[in-house]
Amino acid sequence: MPLQFKKMVSEALINQKLIFGDYLFEEIKYKKNINEHENSNPMKIAEKIELNYGNNLFASDFQKADSLDELNLLIKSCQKCSLGKTRINFVFGVGNPNADIMLIGEAPGAEEDKQGIPFVGRAGKLLNDILKAINFSRDDVYIANIVKCRPPANRNPLPNEMETCLPYLYKQIDLIQPKLILCLGLVAANGLLKLKSSLTKMRGNIYDINGIKTMITYHPAALLRNPAWKRSVWEDIQKFKKLYDEITKN
Ligand code: SF4
Repeated sequence: MPLQFKKMVSEALINQKLIFGDYLFEEIKYKKNINEHENSNPMKIAEKIELNYGNNLFASDFQKADSLDELNLLIKSCQKCSLGKTRINFVFGVGNPNADIMLIGEAPGAEEDKQGIPFVGRAGKLLNDILKAINFSRDDVYIANIVKCRPPANRNPLPNEMETCLPYLYKQIDLIQPKLILCLGLVAANGLLKLKSSLTKMRGNIYDINGIKTMITYHPAALLRNPAWKRSVWEDIQKFKKLYDEITKN
């Protein structure tokens, strides 16, 4: 085995062990069961969802943007909902504009609001580590939120705030054309998929949004509060990586 490859494998295992503790090593039998289940129908789609990206109630100039930079310029002063009045910074999104993978959270928190970048601080660091465990870096993916401005005191964004802001996210998805989306947390999942379901029911399912395979896992901030969910996140991202490999090998 070439030395560099050995080093990569060893680094990936160390990252996995650091983030997920001993689950990785306990899971050999469990993983086998998951694989047996998946192999019976690995790409089964739980639900197909058609979103109308380009023709919505809030259609305006920003729909004409043909790059992320142009879109950012057109919407960064938005005041369409009350969150615009209390934000420090508008948090557009960050990452590779040609990414195969988009990660979608619910809203900026305090640190994101200060820096104008999504998923920074402790939750952001954990997200980076989760990505590393499946051999991705932040630069490989694109990260955005359902709403671009921080809700006061980190409350969940309200339904009308999400509805007002979602066309911007749809436009980002339309410009990036990812092959896969990973929703982080229930609010993001319900906001994007328009389903009223629990995270427990949606986790592990593969949804199809306008042809983009979409999965759901816990938000890294929830994982910081409840380390017992590490096992579930480990299962989810393993399945997500398997799906990525299947889609991109063709
Ligand atoms: S949350 Fe979205 S819709 Fe509301 S002000 Fe910010 S950018 Fe505009």
